[in-house]
Formats: sequence, structure tokens, C-alpha cells
Amino acid sequence: MPLLKKKNNNRGSMLEPQADRVMALSEWEDWWHDGKIRFHLPQVHEVLEKNIDKVINGRTGVRFFFPLCGKAVDMKWLADLGHSVVGVEISEKGIRDFFEENNMTYSVETVASLPGAKVFKSSEKNISLYQCDLFNFSSSIEGQFGAIWDRGSLVAINPRDREKYAALITTLMATDCRYILNTLLYNPELYKGPPFVVPEEQVHILFGSRCSIELLHSVSDMTDRDYRTENVHLLTPKTS
Ligand code: SAH
Repeated sequence: MPLLKKKNNNRGSMLEPQADRVMALSEWEDWWHDGKIRFHLPQVHEVLEKNIDKVINGRTGVRFFFPLCGKAVDMKWLADLGHSVVGVEISEKGIRDFFEENNMTYSVETVASLPGAKVFKSSEKNISLYQCDLFNFSSSIEGQFGAIWDRGSLVAINPRDREKYAALITTLMATDCRYILNTLLYNPELYKGPPFVVPEEQVHILFGSRCSIELLHSVSDMTDRDYRTENVHLLTPKTS
């Protein structure tokens, strides 16, 4: 039934083992409380550092969006360079740790248009982190962005939510947006994720109609048990 196959993008042979895995938001919060945050990097991500000129593209004061931001130190690095950052993260602990570990004072406010959400704002830097489910966030809250840094984001959301994710992210892209998307490949039979496998074909299915996609780097490692490939893409909105 080729039609059925086409309908569900998670049903490719490589996607099958992880297609139905669901990680609840409360499980992420538990991971934070239990210190299970091996995804966190203590330094600026080398892919961001290496590609910063491509992302900035001659602009100043670029508005960055960090979906599923965790406590990524990249946010402070960008703010120190004169850019501004809006992040979304479900874990309040993650957000408070970000400010505290970077010695920043911050305010906490409720968000009228987002019941249950809070926004944490740095007092010194241009950084606002929303504590809420990403899928409740929209362009009506902070407008559109000139850059998006996606590391541990598309690969972290539940595989069945990818179409919804791509639809949301593309509505957050300003016409001059430069979106860096990091994805992973490994044998999904060996590990249930997150992070989840996102094959190249799916990146194109999710974003190809609305964005031009350039593969900037592809780095592979082999171990005796498995392989691991990290792909880095630059997405820019297609001018219609
Ligand atoms: N991008 C960060 C964090 C990656 S881990 C980094 O590179 O370090 C994924 C993060 O997303 C976790 O901190 C988790 O708490 C958060 N998260 C997962 N699903 C979410 C959702 N639907 N809305 C908001 N945050 C979410």
C-alpha cells in the first residue's frame, strides 16, 4: 500500500523502531531533577562557533530563537556578542540553573497569553526564557526570529510530533532567518532515544517545501557496536 506508506512519515524502515516512543514532559522534568542531563555541554557548541558568520550573515543585533533550550551556554555567548535570545524550556530547574550558573540575575513574570507559563528575563542581558510546552508557544508571543539554533530539539521531541514541530518552527522564521538544524543518525534498534534518529529524507519532507536546505557538515564515528553521524543543516526560507 504505497499510499499508506507515504501518509505516515515515521514509517520508514529506519524510523520504525522509534516511531511510537513518547517521552512525557514530566519525564524530562524528572531527568532534570535527577541530574540526567548528559546532553548539556559546558562550552559553546563548536558547530555554532564554526558557523556563526554564516548565521549572522552581516547583520547586527540578531534575534535568536532556541527551541528546547535547556541551559545551553550558547545563549549567553550570543547575548555577549550583542544578539538577543528567546528560549523555550519545560524545566523550571533548567532555566533557573542557566541564570544561576552564569551569574545572572533575573525576573520572573507570568505570560498573559500563555496560561500556566512563566517567562524568566535576565536583568543585564537580552535573554528571555519561557517555561512552557513548546507546542503552546507561537509567533504571537515574541514575533519572528532572525536565527534559530536547533541542537537537541528536533531530535528530542517525540517522533510523532515532528510535522507539528516543523509547522511551528517555520512560522517563527522571519524572511531573513538562518536556521541551523543539528540531526543524528545511529542504529535505532540499539537505543530507544531521546535523542531520536532523524534521517535526511525526513528533514527534506518536513522543511523542503518551505525552506532551502544546505547540508553544512556531516561527521561520522564508528564504534565496535554502532555508528553515529551528526548532520548540520542551514535552512533559509524559500522566497516564493
Ligand atoms: N538544546 C539543549 C537541551 C537539549 S535536551 C541543549 O542542547 O543542551 C531537550 C530539552 O528539551 C530538555 O531540557 C527538556 O526538558 C526540553 N523539552 C522536551 N520537550 C519539551 C517541550 N515539548 N517543550 C519545552 N521543552 C521541552
